[in-house]
Amino acid sequence: MSEVFGGVETGGTWCACALGTGPDRILAEHRFRTGPPERTVARIADFFAAHPRPSAVGIGAFGPLDLDPGSPTWGHVTATPKPGWSGFPLAPGLRDALAVPVGIDTDVAAAALAEQRWGAGAGAGTVCYLTVGTGIGAGLVIDGRCHHGLVHPEAGHLRIPHDRGADPFAGVCPVHGDCWEGLASGPAIAARWGAEARTLADDHPAWALEAEYLALGILAIVSVASPHRMILGGGVLARPALLDAVRVRLRALAAGYPPTPLLGERIGEYLVAPRLGSRAGVLGAIAIAQSTPATTARAPTEPARPVR
Ligand code: ZN
Repeated sequence: MSEVFGGVETGGTWCACALGTGPDRILAEHRFRTGPPERTVARIADFFAAHPRPSAVGIGAFGPLDLDPGSPTWGHVTATPKPGWSGFPLAPGLRDALAVPVGIDTDVAAAALAEQRWGAGAGAGTVCYLTVGTGIGAGLVIDGRCHHGLVHPEAGHLRIPHDRGADPFAGVCPVHGDCWEGLASGPAIAARWGAEARTLADDHPAWALEAEYLALGILAIVSVASPHRMILGGGVLARPALLDAVRVRLRALAAGYPPTPLLGERIGEYLVAPRLGSRAGVLGAIAIAQSTPATTARAPTEPARPVR
């Protein structure tokens, strides 16, 4: 049997596992509610124990994460408000349970990698995938690799221009107040207007403001990272007209500079919707596994065993 890889997406609510090599070859998949960390790792290990052994397993995890390969706490979840998960050694725990090489990145970076390899970013080397939902997250794939740098991109906490005269809303970020996600995430829309975003009419002023804020942050990312393509998804983008409204504002704010038609008349090819849907995270985890070196396994000869 040819080589297969494992992918795990640990989300705040759901955990997804899959075995395969890409969107056209998934041999098995399973989804369950994310529970306490030890129990979640045990259920992931049970899934892989019931199927052919993968050559490596990739994880796309909610963060923040320690992704520094030289750090003694590499692969740990760092300070998260999710009960029980702060400091949890997710990648080392799974590596020890499965005895295969394990790679890890953020869930949004995993989704970015999958979209760049197989989805809306195919053919573009440097891609930013932005999700706007309960927060704002960005995954940045540069020349086909997820970018980390100092920590990992935390684009939701960009500072964007905030005209308090026009929009006196203080923002919902517990750290910064009116950072980008403090102003433009789903919870920010709900708090500002007193109603969930999905219940607001298409002509509600919330949408013009949202398009403006999203375009301001996207222009900052474009100006610094210069991605070949921007992918814009997440629950707030379920509003069909919003993507076009953001394109219009992004083109206007760029005002012809940088001088490329992709920020002008061809902006519809540049700022695009995702293509892989809810599977992007777990597919990206498989892509992470495919680029995980074999040397990261601590005990490659031991059989896989569930953690209890
Ligand atoms: Zn913030």
